[in-house]
Amino acid sequence: MGKIPRLDGERKLTGFWVIGNWKMHGRLQVCKDLAYQMLAMTSQCPDPLHVAVAPALVHLDVVGSILKNSAILLAAQQASAHVDGAFTGQCSAAMLADLGVQLVLVGHSECRADLEQKDDVLRAQMQRIAEQGMSVVLCLGEDLAAHEAGQTVSVIDRQLDILRDWVDWSRLLVAYEPVWSIGTGKVANPEHIAAIHGHIHQRLQDLGDAGQVVPVLYGGSVKPALMPQLLALSSVNGVLVGGASLDADQFGQICKAVVDWPHVERA
Ligand code: PEP
Repeated sequence: MGKIPRLDGERKLTGFWVIGNWKMHGRLQVCKDLAYQMLAMTSQCPDPLHVAVAPALVHLDVVGSILKNSAILLAAQQASAHVDGAFTGQCSAAMLADLGVQLVLVGHSECRADLEQKDDVLRAQMQRIAEQGMSVVLCLGEDLAAHEAGQTVSVIDRQLDILRDWVDWSRLLVAYEPVWSIGTGKVANPEHIAAIHGHIHQRLQDLGDAGQVVPVLYGGSVKPALMPQLLALSSVNGVLVGGASLDADQFGQICKAVVDWPHVERA
């Protein structure tokens, strides 16, 4: 994949990302239908829109062939921390690259929780992904207890420590996803989102000059109606969408909101 968009004045980055995470939803035919519907709705993806979808591992090949030659990028939900070998049930970054995957999620809260993935594993996954020339979407965010205790910033700072030795800044996106907001219909208020995104941008810049080129996406119950609020925040460079990405109409409306938004700098 080409380098991800660069800094551009007030909005900080050129372009706005919309990434759909299909998780473990849908059988093959459902996912094929969804891919065709998305293709019809967002085939153009005019600047400033960058669209990607992350089907389940077993659907990557078929969805990838449907989206081939379109402007919609193929994303995977995770990659192994290992290069190759006797690791039953896992899938290497090289295997994903063979399928045309361009972006890979790392550290989604459901993987951190269900698969008990810790920082050393996440760091190795990121390395494997970058070695294959793909981009990492590093997901982070506080759980409800930390949110209510006012510990969001310290949780985020700890999760961002994983980037201490990171060098491949042009192949990194960060997604701030408050865990209490994922799939719950509860959305963080704009002041909270602006404050945390501003903090993440600052921390990325502190970690390395090139950190300022990293897009910071918001995720957590994003629906079309929320888009004007998110697009109005210059520190939000995109959205990671779970539930609403399973409905082509809603996903299309989210993409359309970006294209129609007058204040996004055009590339
Ligand atoms: C997600 O899982 O990354 C997510 C943001 O899900 P939802 O949009 O359903 O909250």
